[in-house]
Amino acid sequence: AVAGDPAALLARRDSVFGGRTLSPLFYRKPLQVVRAEGAWIEGADGKRYLDAYNNVPVVGHAHPAVVQAIARQSAVLNVHSRYLHPHAIELAERLTASMPDGLDTCVFMNSGSEANDLAWRMARIVTGRSGAMAADLAYHGVSEATTAFSTNTYPPSARPAHVGTFEAPRVDADGRQPTEQDARQRVREGREQLQGHDVALLAVDSVFSSAGILTPTGEFMRGLQDEVHAAGGLFLADEVQAGFGRGGRHLWRFEDYGLTPDFVTLGKPMGNGHPVAALITRREIAEQFAGVDEFFSTFGGNPVSCVAANTVLDVIEESDLVARSGEVGAQLAAGLAELAPSIHPAARVRGQGLMVGVEIPDEAGVTAADLAERLRDLGVLVGTTGPGGQVLKIRPPLIWQTQHVEIFLKAFALL
Ligand code: PMP
Repeated sequence: AVAGDPAALLARRDSVFGGRTLSPLFYRKPLQVVRAEGAWIEGADGKRYLDAYNNVPVVGHAHPAVVQAIARQSAVLNVHSRYLHPHAIELAERLTASMPDGLDTCVFMNSGSEANDLAWRMARIVTGRSGAMAADLAYHGVSEATTAFSTNTYPPSARPAHVGTFEAPRVDADGRQPTEQDARQRVREGREQLQGHDVALLAVDSVFSSAGILTPTGEFMRGLQDEVHAAGGLFLADEVQAGFGRGGRHLWRFEDYGLTPDFVTLGKPMGNGHPVAALITRREIAEQFAGVDEFFSTFGGNPVSCVAANTVLDVIEESDLVARSGEVGAQLAAGLAELAPSIHPAARVRGQGLMVGVEIPDEAGVTAADLAERLRDLGVLVGTTGPGGQVLKIRPPLIWQTQHVEIFLKAFALL
């Protein structure tokens, strides 16, 4: 049977995945899914769920153009990148053309972790330094190196000695917005960490997703970047989650802050679900690295992955999804700002574009996880993030329209 009995499936899963420690599931009663299209996921329970969580299907689940492109190319040729073939070249040309001058060199791989890992390897070789720096509660990947600077994966007491952290200015407990003075103070704290850790690479997730979805000012971000450069380190804009228009202003979120990164990493939505990722850097960095070390990814840059990513870029352009993310995201945030106080007067909405967080204060008498469960019962899928998981994470496919916002807000109003 396709659907099967969810309880039996769960028992089989637990017995082969080592329980749920290594492979957790959402929801107290896990959701068995069958198929998805556009902004909707169909459950084995026969219900349709509005997807308000998944950023990977950026142009919508099962987008026909992407599905057809993958199927067509699979039937023609799929092979590694050591033969000459146009798809990877076209993709690299499009990506580098979309970046600031100087970011002219592209490497393909299969996951955001691999892209960040390679940035780290390059940064150490180019700078001759050995330290890393990341935001408090950041997430950057699964490899040993990227786990070390994924500060949300271990308690502060377990932080490796070579890793320094910085904190972005955030709204404080009584709702006071951070001032420019707060931002300068945070940059100064960052400088101390940079000097204390011999930093080769400072990595920033441009949306601060696992830190709870923060929107620091350009002054803060540029201040941090200047400090890294002054200290002799390199700056990585991790756009694995933020990239491909989610912020609603530019294709890349770091552009909003006016940054000029040394590395940009891309992944997650890049193939709309097909695994494909990239590192973009400057030619001299790549050449210096290649003089000492080497890199080859078997699947990186294969024609099927690259045609998927090229088609995602086509759809984003043709459907004007960057602007749509900005417009629809603003409707969503405005609606939530009206409704959030009914959960608790101090419940706060933040974010930009279709990356919106609702912080549920501890005093609310309900957790963000409770609300996510209730929203699931109301037919809407969201996530949780941030310190203590107390931020509702709303990060839907960018094809959302006003009608999806209305459905979402109607459910939210019933919480
Ligand atoms: N960086 C960020 C900001 C991410 O959100 C993630 C994935 N959650 C990664 C890196 C790692 O990407 P992947 O899971 O594709 O290895």
